[in-house]
Amino acid sequence: MIRRACRTCGTMQDFRKLNAKERAAVREERKDPRLYVDNLWRCTVPGCLWYQPYLHTDGGGVLPERFKGEAAPAG
Ligand SMILES: [Zn+2]
Repeated sequence: MIRRACRTCGTMQDFRKLNAKERAAVREERKDPRLYVDNLWRCTVPGCLWYQPYLHTDGGGVLPERFKGEAAPAG
């Protein structure tokens, strides 16, 4: 877990790395199957869909709605 300022929550939150399903969804959303997604982390607040690269909020975005209920557990 890392601690980052979440753009959606507007506060500092715990982030965890995207899991395989989430990484696939980001590639799908960006229509770029080779997009580098291994450095993406998401906010673990229930209902929050914000994700971003490790170091900065540039390149971040919002996961599809279907990931809303899957925030907390890693893996
Ligand atoms: Zn958040």
